[in-house]
Amino acid sequence: MTRGYRVQKTRAAFVVINAEGDRVSPFLANELAAERERKRLQDALDARKRAGFRACLCCEASFWSHGIHNRLCDGCRDHATRLGREMAG
Ligand SMILES: [Zn+2]
Repeated sequence: MTRGYRVQKTRAAFVVINAEGDRVSPFLANELAAERERKRLQDALDARKRAGFRACLCCEASFWSHGIHNRLCDGCRDHATRLGREMAG
């Protein structure tokens, strides 16, 4: 179970609450606005969680990773991209 934000309906509005149940948004008039705010907060949280130094899966060099999708250092990624292109071509 991932910790994250949820949209909660109150009597007259929608709010975004965090994993601890604290309100983290202003009172929003509709669910769409609340969902948009939830996504914005969640994306920011995920970005903080994912970025950081990682060991490259290929050469094990330490590099700055922008996220969990980013597992290869620049050098190895270039190489993999070229390889993929050659295989596709
Ligand atoms: Zn590498």
